[in-house]
Amino acid sequence: MEQASFTIALAGNPNSGKTTIFNMITGTRQKVGNWPGVTVEKKEGRIKKFGHDLNIIDLPGTYSLTPFSIEEIVARDFILEEKPDVVIDIIDASNLERSLYLATQLRELDCSKVLFALNMHDLARARGVKIDAEKLSELLDVPVVFTVGNKNEGVEALLKTAVELAEKGRTTKLKRRVKYNQDVELAIQDLSALIGAQVGSQLGYDLRWMTIKLLEDDNILKKRIVEKLPEKAQAVLEAAHAQRENLVRRLNEEPEIIMTDERYGFIAGIIKEVLTTSRRQRVDISRNIDMVLTNRFLGFPIFILLIWAMFQLTFTMGAYPMEWIEQGVAGLSAGLAALMPDGIVKELLLDGIVAGVGSVIVFLPNILILFFCIALFEDTGYMARAAFLMDRIMHLIGLHGKSFIPMLMGFGCNVPAVMAARTLESEKDRILTILITPFMSCSARLPIYIVLAGTFFSNKAGSVLFAIYLTGIVMAILSGRLLRSTLLKGADAPFVMELPPYRMPMARSLIIHMWDRSKLFLRKMGGVILIGSILIWVLSAFPREVAYSRNYAEVKQQIETEFTNRLETAAAVNRPALEQEKAGRLAHLEKHRQMEKSEKSWMGMIGKVIAPVFAPLGIDWRGGIALLSGFVAKEIVVSTMGVLYAAENEADALQTALAASGMTPLSALAMMFFVLLYVPCLATIASIRRETASLKWTVFSVVYSTLVAWLAAFTVYQGGRLLGFA
Ligand code: GDP
Ligand code: MG
Repeated sequence: MEQASFTIALAGNPNSGKTTIFNMITGTRQKVGNWPGVTVEKKEGRIKKFGHDLNIIDLPGTYSLTPFSIEEIVARDFILEEKPDVVIDIIDASNLERSLYLATQLRELDCSKVLFALNMHDLARARGVKIDAEKLSELLDVPVVFTVGNKNEGVEALLKTAVELAEKGRTTKLKRRVKYNQDVELAIQDLSALIGAQVGSQLGYDLRWMTIKLLEDDNILKKRIVEKLPEKAQAVLEAAHAQRENLVRRLNEEPEIIMTDERYGFIAGIIKEVLTTSRRQRVDISRNIDMVLTNRFLGFPIFILLIWAMFQLTFTMGAYPMEWIEQGVAGLSAGLAALMPDGIVKELLLDGIVAGVGSVIVFLPNILILFFCIALFEDTGYMARAAFLMDRIMHLIGLHGKSFIPMLMGFGCNVPAVMAARTLESEKDRILTILITPFMSCSARLPIYIVLAGTFFSNKAGSVLFAIYLTGIVMAILSGRLLRSTLLKGADAPFVMELPPYRMPMARSLIIHMWDRSKLFLRKMGGVILIGSILIWVLSAFPREVAYSRNYAEVKQQIETEFTNRLETAAAVNRPALEQEKAGRLAHLEKHRQMEKSEKSWMGMIGKVIAPVFAPLGIDWRGGIALLSGFVAKEIVVSTMGVLYAAENEADALQTALAASGMTPLSALAMMFFVLLYVPCLATIASIRRETASLKWTVFSVVYSTLVAWLAAFTVYQGGRLLGFA
């Protein structure tokens, strides 16, 4: 046989093992680039095998060939325009039904010759899934080869079959294909006669396929016809439009919806014919693990234990690097203080930027550890089990277990948590989950509780903390029920929880997952928090000249003089005590000056304006300002309190100052509830906006949670007072 060169493309669902098989086939002879015009990775490899030059292409992973995503368009265009000699559809044999949609579409395209690789055969076998390959091959009129990609089993045979198929030349037309209902088939008949007469094979696309796509109103194909056959396009598109309108009228539905249903029906039929699942063999390793981890009695305690361990690890292990970072920030601050001349720039840099961003960056280790644990749960497959366990509880809110994952992640940071709601298929479920997730107390709120609970509930601080977290969960459940029965009415979508097999996590992917999420945190630091810190500083540092109620410089001078006199006359033994008294008086004076300054700063002015809103909660204007700054990021609340209450950034000093400020345990508790429940931060608001794609829901979320926070704090404070607590 004459040596020819063949192009073989690998298509398939994401994670079906395409790249694995591509690597097995091409080894090191591959070229990685991008598909023209888009940022989708293109892998290509040239090898010599079976007497031919073979050009192997790894197509982007897709579930179908409808032109909805870049991946789908890239894959389809490659097959349509480059016409590879063979397309190998890599099918995840343990997930046959899902894979067959793409397979039927490839057949419908009827462009290149198609070959099925039933990959992951090992997994399928382990789950007791048996596929009748011969039957499948017969039903769809394609050769079928079993493979185990990661063990290189069957890959050689697959390639050989592909080459043989390529050598055969063009085969006869399809025998088996999806049959649509009568209306659709009639429309196909009419329209394809017209298209055949007008266009024929000038575009090189299969006639039936073109007709079907035009009935489905495929924009990419329409554009292509206009580009390539401008003089014929109008007639074809008008005829297609008329047929489509006609179909819509008859079916009372978009034809593409009906046709998709019918393709699934076709697939269901194939599955019935070729797939058998033996119950006995199903007990594999994953099953055995699941017998323990999702056990009716053991599952829940184990789950709680794991979550507890996660938080424990986050805080104990995070404490060490946290200290190092704190020292680093202190060192940087001291260094800058020594190096820079006094003035407004120094103040901005030290009191604004370094203090503000510094007080936040110390939480980076905690966040890294938390996200590492979450990545571990996800990559091993445990997260799906956690969702499964929570399913029943989540039904109380009218949601199912899948919504629990975003909520759990909310304990770390609400931003990735809101993003995690993407995995929910139903839009209502997604919005509801996004609305209640912020009630999960994120790690940025913890420092506020630590300061307040530590100051006012010293020996009961732990229980208070627990109560706060629990309240968040209860509020989420109550809000869920409320919204489900009002604004987001509807039954929870019926769905089957997919429990993927347990996998040994790979270090690389754990680190990538952890890093992807932590990046968000760092970006927040460089953006919102930096700007927020600067803003808070500006508001507290201006106006520069304050009309003080007393002349502090004069009073300071008086103290100096008084002590100079007393020290002169005092006996040597009494001098140290006097020095101390002097220092104390001066510090006290300076604190008063600072407090008066912040009261008369712009921030103080704003605080006075908003004070009435917070007064019924037992929170004074300084607390109000701190809470207001929390809209930017919760991390800023503590540093704002630091500026306002003590003008000193140390937690100890802040605690003393808080205790002296007239705040009571009851008002501290009200403040904690407020912090727990109101909008987490700007970054969360931005991701709510992005994920709901709706300004209405974003505004609703902000208003709703702030209202809930106010009411809860009000109830705590006024209720507590009625019951006689201070
Ligand atoms: P792609 O998204 O289609 O390119 O999929 P990949 O080639 O990246 O494979 C996804 C995962 O499946 C990887 O972790 C592979 O190691 C694994 N994998 C690939 N083929 C098989 C197989 O036949 N059996 C099993 N158990 N795992 C496989
Ligand atoms: Mg891949």
